[in-house]
Amino acid sequence: MPESKQYAPSTIAAQALHFTDSTTGGVVPPIHPSTTFVRDENYELVGKYGYSREQNPTYDQVEAVLAHLEGGAEAQVYASGLAAAGAVFETVNAGQHIVAPDMMYYGLKEWLVRISEKRSIGLDFVDMTRPDAVREKIRPGATVLVWVEPIANPTWEVTDLAAIAEIAHKDNALLAADCTCTPPVTTKALEQGADLVFHSTTKYLNGHSDAVGGALITCEANSVWEEIKHLRHKLGAVPGPFEAWLLLRGLRTLSIRYERASENALRIARHFEGHPKVESVLYPGLESHPGHAIACKQMTGGFGGMLSLCVTGGKDEALRFATGLRLILPATSLGGVESLAEHRKTIEGPDSLVPENLVRFSIGIESADDLIDDLEHALQRI
Ligand code: PLP
Repeated sequence: MPESKQYAPSTIAAQALHFTDSTTGGVVPPIHPSTTFVRDENYELVGKYGYSREQNPTYDQVEAVLAHLEGGAEAQVYASGLAAAGAVFETVNAGQHIVAPDMMYYGLKEWLVRISEKRSIGLDFVDMTRPDAVREKIRPGATVLVWVEPIANPTWEVTDLAAIAEIAHKDNALLAADCTCTPPVTTKALEQGADLVFHSTTKYLNGHSDAVGGALITCEANSVWEEIKHLRHKLGAVPGPFEAWLLLRGLRTLSIRYERASENALRIARHFEGHPKVESVLYPGLESHPGHAIACKQMTGGFGGMLSLCVTGGKDEALRFATGLRLILPATSLGGVESLAEHRKTIEGPDSLVPENLVRFSIGIESADDLIDDLEHALQRI
């Protein structure tokens, strides 16, 4: 792609950065399953690869595409989202301090608690929608990492990235944004002040529920980034070449998948607002959502397919709703082309802050009418 022009994310993703194979002319890169790479007669590596735990040629294009999409300097792909986030947490030393949201993906929350206890790292969970509350938790000189979700899973509260970046940077902490639910076709967290973007690529970026993966994108190749790269090499949380290739394939259609999921979710959210069997609709695209104004500023390509419905009643009603669906699949995960429903409190356990009457939906690209019919039918059962 001509470097001088700023292409839109949809263009970058659709053409995988204008990829063509220099030896065959193919418009799709090959998969390189080789784990090892030979040396020449001078015992020098033939190319830039030595061993696939460090780097595999299949990662190159997808990492370049991810870096371009997020407007970052470099990217790394991982075997899972948790592996990618774990690499960031691993850079924090004993005696240092992390601030994270009280409402966040529970798997990462559990991991933060574990490392904090095992490695004597200070940890505070805070309401990220309140910048003043975040400011109060910062420990100057000790806080090195502020972790945020631009929209918090699964209540979809909105965090003001620019405001939190200013607070973190004032005391030299890094801001890392879990953008799993806000892909770069809608939110460019690095432009809003984040230093690192994290994705579970298992979700929107791959988009087809067929490859577990993670990614990190850095705003600059600084010392923390060098450590993160070293950690992937040494701990070996690399994806299989096929999974990396699937991610590049899935990314090509990210913009239209996200657009359609956003349209569907907005229609569903509007349809069920005020419904007699629905206590509240949690969706940042609704004008009534408390974070709507910030969402409009930060989610310029649509509000996405993630929404939660809190039903009238409690846990039993919510479970009857989730199990009464005939089209939307009762399964975990999100960001795929197929719509999924989940009772998060059951999955997260008794310590979870998620309301018992909440059912989370990952809305896909099916017909919105079919999805609304399915939801209406299941709501009649509760
Ligand atoms: N972050 C968010 C917001 C998630 O929803 C998930 C998984 O559900 C993760 C991180 C973890 O990613 P993975 O399951 O790919 O390890």
